[in-house]
Amino acid sequence: MKFGGTSVADADAMTRVVNILRRQWESQPKGSRPPVVVVSALSKVTDGLIRTTELARNGEGQRASALLNELLDRHIAIARTLTTGQRTEDAVQALNLQFAQLAGRVGGMALGRKVTPADHDLIVASGELASSRIVAAAFEEQNLPAVWVDAREVLVTDAEHTAAAPDMDATCRRAAQTLAPITGRQQIPVLGGFIASTAAGVTATLGRGGSDYSAAIFGACLDVGEIQIWTDVDGMLTADPRVVPAPRVVPQLSFAEASELAYFGAKVLHPATILPAVTKNIPVRILNSRQPQNPGTLITATVARESHLAALACKRDVTVVDITSTRMFMAHGFLRRLFEVFERFKTAVDVVTTSEVSVSVTVDNTKHLHDIAAALSEFADVRCEPQMAIVSIVGERLNEAPGVFVKAIVSLGDIPLRLVSQAASRRNITFVLPDQDAAGAMTRLHEAFF
Ligand code: ADP
Ligand code: ASP
Ligand code: MG
Repeated sequence: MKFGGTSVADADAMTRVVNILRRQWESQPKGSRPPVVVVSALSKVTDGLIRTTELARNGEGQRASALLNELLDRHIAIARTLTTGQRTEDAVQALNLQFAQLAGRVGGMALGRKVTPADHDLIVASGELASSRIVAAAFEEQNLPAVWVDAREVLVTDAEHTAAAPDMDATCRRAAQTLAPITGRQQIPVLGGFIASTAAGVTATLGRGGSDYSAAIFGACLDVGEIQIWTDVDGMLTADPRVVPAPRVVPQLSFAEASELAYFGAKVLHPATILPAVTKNIPVRILNSRQPQNPGTLITATVARESHLAALACKRDVTVVDITSTRMFMAHGFLRRLFEVFERFKTAVDVVTTSEVSVSVTVDNTKHLHDIAAALSEFADVRCEPQMAIVSIVGERLNEAPGVFVKAIVSLGDIPLRLVSQAASRRNITFVLPDQDAAGAMTRLHEAFF
C-alpha cells in the first residue's frame, strides 16, 4: 500500500490512512501476510527540500536553515497530534536529531556553495524518512503492529544520483532479509518511498514521483497479491484533471496502457511503476484515500473493455529537436550516430518522426540540450523548438479502430500539429503541438472520444 504526498499531507490525512490500513488489515483472512506500507514525503515537503538545496548552493545558509526549521516544525506538530506520551517524545526526538544532522550538513554545503547530486539526494531523502516515521508512530498509537524500516536499508540502486535505477537482485535479497521477517511476525513494515542507497551505502533517490516505483519494487520482491497506489483522485482518469474539466475514471487498464499513459504524462503513476508489476504479474490498483470505498482503477495484464480507447495523456513543456542533413541522412549509421549523442548526454527521447532528410525528436529534460545541439551540429543542421506539448490517445488495439485517427484529426481542427506518430505497439496515437494549444487539444479530443 503506497500513500502519496496529499494522502499524508497533515494529521487528518494520516488519520484517514490509519483507517484505510485498519480496514484492510482487519478484513484479511487471519494469518495471511499483513500489508507493507510505503509513504511519500508530506505534500510539498520535497519541493521545500529542493528549495533548500538551491539556497545552500547560493551560499544562503541562514535561509536554508530557517526553511529546514519550518519543515521540522510541521512534522513535529503532526507527530504531536497523532501520538501521545512516550511515543510523542520518541518521535519528536528522532525528528529533531534527523533535522539537526541535516542542518549541519546543509550548513557545510552553504559555506562551500556546493551541492553535489549525492548531497541533493541526502537532503531530499529526509522528507520520506520523516513522514514514514510519523506514519509508523501513528499506526502504533492506534494499536496497529507497525515497524518503521529505513528504506535505504532495503532499496539498493546504482549511483546515478537524483534518478537512480534499482538493483532488483540486491533489493529483493534485502527485502527477504528485512521485510519478510516482519510480515512473517504479523507486523506491518512502514517505509519511505523514493529513497534508497547505493551499493556503497550512499543515500540516493529514484527521481520525482518515485514512491510509486518503490512500492512496486518492494511488491515484486515480496511477490504480493496486489500493489495499491493510494492518491488524491479516484483512479486513472480519462484525461489529466488539471487540463480537462471533469474526466471520468477508467475502471480497468492493461499494464501496457498504464505504462504508456504514465510515460506520456499521467502523473498519477510514476512511469516505471508497472515494470516490476509485470515481471511478477501483480495487479496494480489506483485508489483515492479520500474516498476509499470507490473501486478505483485496476491494472492487469489484459483487459476486457468495449472501447478500444483507454484515456488521453498530455506531457507539457517539451522541446522538439529537428535534425536535418541532406548529405548523410540516407547513409547507414546516421541514426546510430544521432542517437549516440542523446545517449552520451543521458537524455531520453520521447517521440521520434522521420522524413527524407530530417529526424525530429522530442525531449523533456533540456539540461544538456545546448551540448546535444552542439554535438549534433558537427554533422547536421539542428533547430530546437521549446514550449511544445505531447498529446497521446492511448488504448489497446487502436489499429483495429481505424476511425480513431480520422476522428482525432477532425476534432483537433485548426490546431497546428508539429509531429504525428502512431506507435508500432498500436497502443497510442501521438500529436506534438504548441504547448499553448495543449489544453484546447485535450479538451477537444476528450469531448470527441469520452
Ligand atoms: P501522489 O502524491 O499521490 O503521488 P501525484 O500528484 O503524484 O499524487 O499524482 C496524482 C495527480 O496526478 C492527480 O491529482 C492529477 O492531478 C494528476 N494526473 C494527471 N493525469 C492524470 C490522469 N490521467 N488520471 C489521474 N490523475 C492524473
Ligand atoms: N516525495 C517525492 C516527490 O515529491 C516522491 C513521491 O512523492 O513519489 O517527488
Ligand atoms: Mg506521485
